[in-house]
Amino acid sequence: MSLNDTLRKLPKIGDLIERPEIRELVYIHGKKVVLKAAREAVNELRGHLILLETSQPLKETLTEENLIKEAIKIIVEKLEEYKSFSLKKVINATGVVLHTNLGRAPLPKEVLENINNIASGYSNLEFDLDEGERGERYSHVKNLLMELTGAEDAMVVNNNAGAVLLCLSALSKGKEVIVSRGELIEIGGSFRIPDVMLQSGAKLVEVGTTNKTHLYDYERAINENTSLLMKVHTSNYRIIGFTSGVERHELKKLAEKYNLVFMEDLGSGVLVDLRKYGIPYEPTVQDSVKAGVDVVTFSGDKLLGGPQAGIIVGRREIIEKVKKHPLNRALRIDKLTLASMEAILKIYLEGNIERIPVIKMISKDLETLKRDAEKLAEGLNSILKEKGSAVILDDLSEVGGGSLPGVQMPTKVVALRVCGLEPEEISKKLRSAKIPVIGRINKNEYLLDVRTMNEEDIFYTIDMVGKIIWEI
Ligand SMILES: *Cc1c(COP(=O)(O)O)cnc(C)c1O
Repeated sequence: MSLNDTLRKLPKIGDLIERPEIRELVYIHGKKVVLKAAREAVNELRGHLILLETSQPLKETLTEENLIKEAIKIIVEKLEEYKSFSLKKVINATGVVLHTNLGRAPLPKEVLENINNIASGYSNLEFDLDEGERGERYSHVKNLLMELTGAEDAMVVNNNAGAVLLCLSALSKGKEVIVSRGELIEIGGSFRIPDVMLQSGAKLVEVGTTNKTHLYDYERAINENTSLLMKVHTSNYRIIGFTSGVERHELKKLAEKYNLVFMEDLGSGVLVDLRKYGIPYEPTVQDSVKAGVDVVTFSGDKLLGGPQAGIIVGRREIIEKVKKHPLNRALRIDKLTLASMEAILKIYLEGNIERIPVIKMISKDLETLKRDAEKLAEGLNSILKEKGSAVILDDLSEVGGGSLPGVQMPTKVVALRVCGLEPEEISKKLRSAKIPVIGRINKNEYLLDVRTMNEEDIFYTIDMVGKIIWEI
C-alpha cells in the first residue's frame, strides 16, 4: 500500500470530534483544548506514518478504525500533558543534598506554612504597623540576621550573585578591588568573579599566585585608586599541597591601615559549626563578622537550607550605602522569599536545626540510612519478584551545590536491577514517571541513594518502579 493511500485514511478532525469517546472528553475538558489536541494528534500520526514508510512497507492492517483508535490514544495523552506542570516535584535519589539542577534546598514544613499564609493575602511587607506608615521590607529579617551573625546591620537580595554584584557596584565602581589569584573562582551557571567585577564597574586587581598569596602581595597592590580588599570562599574546589592564603585578621588590619573596605563572598555561608556532623570545618558567617570583615555576602539556599536569596551582613554605614544603590531595586527580594527567610532564621534562633531538611540530610547517621535503605529495598523486592532485584550497597554521597568540595559522606544506596533493562533504560523510564525519580549510575549499576530521600519519597519510588515493571 502506498504512503499516499495510507495518509488518506488519517481521521478527519470533524469525524474524530463526533466519536463518543471524544465527545466525553469535550464534556470534561472543553471543545477548544480537545480540538487542539486532536489536530496535534493527527499531525503526529501523519509524521509517524511518513517515518514508518521509509523503514518498512506500510501494512494493510493500518485500517481507518485503527488509525482513529491511535489518534484517540494520543489525544488522551495530550490532554494529560496539558494539565501537568512543566516545573514539578521530582524525587532526588542522587544523594547530592544541594543539587543545583534539582532546586538546591528543600524547605521545612513551618516555612511552607508561613509562605502560604503570606502569599494568600496581604501583609505588612513595607508597612510599619506601629507608625502606620511606609516601612522597610528588610525589617522582617534584619534583627534575626543581626542576632544570628553578630553583625551591625543586614539586608537580603535575590541571590548571592546579585549580592556580590550589588556590593561591588555600590562600594567600588570605578575603583580598584584586590583579590587573590587563588580565589578567582567560577561557580556553576557561569558566575565568575572577574566577570561580575567587570559588570559592577569595579577594576579587578589580581595578586599573588594560584597556590600562594601573601599579605605583602596585597599591600604592594594598594594605591590611591584602591577601594576594597575582597576575599572569596573557594566554595567549589580546593587547592591542596604547597599553599597559603592570608588570614582574615591580617587583611582586616591592612584594610584599616589604608582605609579600605574589607569584603568577603562566603558562598555557602553556614550559621552552625558542621563539625559535630563529621563535616570538616567550614567558615561560619559569625567567624567572618567576628574577624572584622566589613561586609559579608552568602547564599540563602546552600548550606543555610532556606530559600534562594543573597544575604548581606556587615557594618551599618556600608549596608546603608548598598541599600541606597539603584541596582538594589532591580535585585530586590520578593515577599514569598522574605516569608520563607524569616521562618528559616527563626528555626536557627530556636536552635532546633535538624528540622531543616538540608541539615537533616547532611547529619543522617549510618543507622538511619541503613534502615531507610532496607525499607526501600524490601518494598522494591516485593514488587520486582522474579523481574529483578534491589540490593543494598555502601557508597558515598556529597553535599553538592558548590559547597564542601571533596567532602564525601558514607551512605547506603539501593542498586536497582531490572531484567532486560540497562541502567540507562531504568534511569530514562524513572525520569519519565509521573513523579520523576532521579538516581545515579555508577559502575553500570542504577543507584538510589537514600540520604536525600524522605519516607514519602521512598514510598513513591517503590510505586513508580512498580509502574515501569507493569509496562515490561
Ligand atoms: C554559590 C556562590 C555564589 C552564587 O550564589 P547564588 O546564591 O547561587 O547566586 C557566589 N559566590 C560563591 C563563592 C558561591 O559559592
